[in-house]
Amino acid sequence: MPELPEVETVARRLSTVLSGKVIQGVSVLREKSFQGDPSRLTGLTIKSVSRRAKIISINFHEDIKIIVHLKMTGQLIYFSKKEKIGGGHPSQDWVSKLPSSHTRIVMDLSDGAKLFFNDMRVFGWWKVVSGEGAELEFQKYGPDVNTDAFSLEYFLSKLPNRRVSIKQVVMDNKVVAGIGNIYASEALFLAKIDPTRATNSLSKKEVTRLFPFLKKVIEDGINAGGTTFDGKYVDVFGFAGSYQNQLKVYGQDGENCKICKSIIEKVKLGGRGSYFCPSCQK
Ligand SMILES: [Zn+2]
Repeated sequence: MPELPEVETVARRLSTVLSGKVIQGVSVLREKSFQGDPSRLTGLTIKSVSRRAKIISINFHEDIKIIVHLKMTGQLIYFSKKEKIGGGHPSQDWVSKLPSSHTRIVMDLSDGAKLFFNDMRVFGWWKVVSGEGAELEFQKYGPDVNTDAFSLEYFLSKLPNRRVSIKQVVMDNKVVAGIGNIYASEALFLAKIDPTRATNSLSKKEVTRLFPFLKKVIEDGINAGGTTFDGKYVDVFGFAGSYQNQLKVYGQDGENCKICKSIIEKVKLGGRGSYFCPSCQK
């Protein structure tokens, strides 16, 4: 599942190629993937592409937006005579001919380029909304981790006085948007905090220690272009990220800790695999 750094990478790449382009038409190949009236988009000029939480927003000069959630297996691939740009879930569609059997939406641009939305499992979506409609969608999330709105004071005020694990709290989108399983595991390792700890057992000093690492892992992830696990498709068109090479604990169970050589362990927290070093993390 793409996390914030992967989604940010896709949004940045698409903004460079889509901004200024005019939409000639949008074809919906699978109804479930699209909400709204695609014919409203014909003739509109794309202003920019941005991101909030894990939602990509295609913005126009008019009061209309296309908001896109990639969910588990979504991909956005821009294809012109000159280039192929995009990202999301790694699959054969990164390198094969498009459209494929997973293509759900095709946006035709007036210069002959196309934007493909591929989604194997069909959980992802596009919605045509007003600016207000987009805000309503964004309000479901807490502040983005990599913004000033996510401050230490805010974080301390949102921590529940409960036994729920600290890892589940940092992954709660209503507290802070953009920290998924990979980056939560890594931040807690860097802060030397056991992910299974009850949130109400953490001292203010420990929360203060954790806070900057939540921002650091996301920033490092964005700088690396995200995390791509499926090596088969890596770097054919420069789609893949490289943060997987920096992982200290995520997916490393049974391996030696890079700091103390203890064996990395895996436990389930809130149904998600959680990785930690039992010696470094207390
Ligand atoms: Zn260790």
